[in-house]
Amino acid sequence: MNEPMSYVARNSCGCVSGLCVDSPEHRRETARFVAEAVRRGQTIERCTTEDVRSGRVHLRPCEEGPCVRAAQRRPSKQEALL
Ligand SMILES: [Zn+2]
Repeated sequence: MNEPMSYVARNSCGCVSGLCVDSPEHRRETARFVAEAVRRGQTIERCTTEDVRSGRVHLRPCEEGPCVRAAQRRPSKQEALL
């Protein structure tokens, strides 16, 4: 069985403010998440969903700045899964 993978969006400041589970049935939403992150100037990193659950990849936006506004948007269905 394949381990579920996720994409995280890292800001230029180094924090991670976005997450999207890469599931085949949500390919379109995943592509949109990646495209939007790139447009915001974020770096996309692929990791296992377990990396996120275990805290190896921290979902922690800065206190202020563009990364917080990005994190405050309504999470998609996929992001709510975690
Ligand atoms: Zn930040």
